[in-house]
Amino acid sequence: MADIKNFDNTYVANTYARFPLQIVSGKGAIAYDETGKRYIDLGSGIAVNSFGFADEVWQEAVTAQVKTLQHTSNLYYTEPCVQLAKQLCERTGLCRVFFSNSGAEANECAIKTARRYSFLKYGEGRHVIITLKNSFHGRTITTLAATGQDSFHTEFGPFTEGFRYATVGDIDELKAMASAGDVAAIMIETVQGEGGVLELPADYIAAIKAITEEQDILLIVDEVQTGNGRTGKLYSYMHHDLHPDIVSTAKGLAGGLPLGATMLGERVKDTLTPGSHGSTFGGNPVCCAGALSVLNRLTDDFLSDVTKKSDYIKAELEGAPGVVGVSGRGLMLGIETVRPAKEIIADCMAAGVLVLSAKTKVRLLPPLSISMEELAEAIAVLKEALAK
Ligand SMILES: *Cc1c(COP(=O)(O)O)cnc(C)c1O
Repeated sequence: MADIKNFDNTYVANTYARFPLQIVSGKGAIAYDETGKRYIDLGSGIAVNSFGFADEVWQEAVTAQVKTLQHTSNLYYTEPCVQLAKQLCERTGLCRVFFSNSGAEANECAIKTARRYSFLKYGEGRHVIITLKNSFHGRTITTLAATGQDSFHTEFGPFTEGFRYATVGDIDELKAMASAGDVAAIMIETVQGEGGVLELPADYIAAIKAITEEQDILLIVDEVQTGNGRTGKLYSYMHHDLHPDIVSTAKGLAGGLPLGATMLGERVKDTLTPGSHGSTFGGNPVCCAGALSVLNRLTDDFLSDVTKKSDYIKAELEGAPGVVGVSGRGLMLGIETVRPAKEIIADCMAAGVLVLSAKTKVRLLPPLSISMEELAEAIAVLKEALAK
């Protein structure tokens, strides 16, 4: 561990405040460090390992594909990419999928598509994308600009122009912003993840739906974190009466491999044309094979178990000593704590449970497949740390 830490400090770009822990292997929701110490993982590599570590079904799908064909570029047809796109469209009602390699890229494609749609139909100048304060959309220059938090808008400028930030819940402000005549799209997370696991109010979501439908403004839902079963539905917009034009996703989609997807609805299904967008790695067969093995198992029964696990966690934590409140949906939960989140995370780690933070909250993003026994054991440890 000491060597790894020193080499990391010396050779890896200093962009992460890592926890003092080296994970060397895992199985399902269990991780092991280099001393063999066991941890129950309630973080899933930030909502990525949908079926935990070293899941056998996923491993088989991925290794079979690795042994057959690892990459071709998008100059040729490949089966996993097509099968995955077909399944995503059939299960969402959206029409086409563009594949990339990360959440930021999936959002970049969403932004480009919205701007091109508006440009082709209305000409120049109608390019503004309204995003929400406290949102998070990625780390590229454009997705930082889309992110509605001032702290992300320093030092790396100039940023991409054309984003306007709306205050969550203020419907009058949103109506005024949207009617300026220059708006191409509104982009939302139904539950703001990095922003503190905050669910948008239902009446605000309904207002967004009405505004986008009335004014031919596109609705983009960023499902990078909320997608792929995380909130108890395949995509979180399905909890609401919403028909997004564009849905971006990544994190949990391929169960631990880098894959972004931007799903395009009826209005924008033909907006992207040959040469207007692309990616060398996007739609990689190995990543798509992993994603198919994940999606195939996100059945209605499985998703209702996700909701049951969520209800169990909420029932255990709401009103428990040291807990101010619990927010979020499904297995994407935020806990407002009496003690600083940092201390709780450290105490949990010492006791063999891995949890994350979001702003000032403790954040839980366990593997969707975690067993009730593992969950009960982890929540007992967490409750002890919360009450200390
Ligand atoms: C994580 C996240 C992103 C960025 O995804 P990357 O894969 O890190 O580029 C974008 N939007 C949301 C909502 C996210 O949670």
